[in-house]
Amino acid sequence: MHTGLYHALDFAADGKSLDFLSIPFSVDRSPYYQVKVPVCRVRNGTGPRVLLMAGNHGDEYEGELLLGRLFRRLDPARIRGEVTILPATNAPAVMAARRRSPLDDGNLNRAFPGDPAGTPTFRLAHFLEHELFPRHDVVFDIHSGGTSMAHLPCALIERQGTPDRLARALELMRALDMPYGFVAENGAAAPTSMAAAARAGVIGISGEFGGGGTVTPETIAYTARAIDNLLIAVGLTDAPVLSGPTPAAAPAAAPIATPMQLLQLDSHRQAIYALRRGWFEPAVDVGARVSAGDLAGWFHDLTRLDQPEEELRFQEAGIVISRRLHSDSEAGDCLIQVARPVEEAGILGRAA
Ligand SMILES: [Zn+2]
Repeated sequence: MHTGLYHALDFAADGKSLDFLSIPFSVDRSPYYQVKVPVCRVRNGTGPRVLLMAGNHGDEYEGELLLGRLFRRLDPARIRGEVTILPATNAPAVMAARRRSPLDDGNLNRAFPGDPAGTPTFRLAHFLEHELFPRHDVVFDIHSGGTSMAHLPCALIERQGTPDRLARALELMRALDMPYGFVAENGAAAPTSMAAAARAGVIGISGEFGGGGTVTPETIAYTARAIDNLLIAVGLTDAPVLSGPTPAAAPAAAPIATPMQLLQLDSHRQAIYALRRGWFEPAVDVGARVSAGDLAGWFHDLTRLDQPEEELRFQEAGIVISRRLHSDSEAGDCLIQVARPVEEAGILGRAA
């Protein structure tokens, strides 16, 4: 077989299994090469059906590390229902420590609904949206800012689907117990996993848990607790598996002092972009509350040392949600973004 995507998963089997999604893709080094995407299943009878995925972008590590740990720790006898775990979803990107797959430059989170006859990333997206997502009730896709970006730790949903489904997504997002909840507006046809989940009739939950191509004890603690909270909220488990006072490298959860603050990005004026080559120096970090006109940072030109660095100022008020980590920037790079704090009523009131 030289096309498509195949697997030998038995979705009715109880217990614990480790298998692969196989995507044939002939390369110079290996004529019969197959991309091997690890897929773990843990099942104990009928009940909630949850899909946990990380490595949608390869260089976002909290989910990748914790979903591997979750698979090792999960005891089928202690769950009700089933969980499918993809710790390294776009596996070639994970192995290359890159956002996109080096095989086809495929950005999985821009590849949905995919193409069954396309390159590996598009075949994978097609399988996820059309075959794997619909076998579940909830899809949790774990992201971070990646190598080039710091991101405010926040749960994320897209404003998708019916009012009932959006309300349930908001409820589950709140259950993650993160300090911020970002409600994205990408539209029903978006190429993202969350829009794909909505098209598949599944609740989609996501989040940005760190950034910079690394993890910290704090970002791991947030993510571990979010995964545990989701599994408990849907009734798949009744006790934390990754977080809490258990031995063997279980980080204590970071304290959260305030209820989840909901955020939205709804205007291009909330971002500052580089318009030429330069070097970015931020004046504030993620989490800062800023007003319109506040200093966001400076843009230096190391090729024009006689010129003063340019002051960059926010056009909109809000909370800094992400910023570029790499100082070296080109025209078109997003340097810093502020999100607008919103109330839940403002989101549910506008449900599609
Ligand atoms: Zn990502």
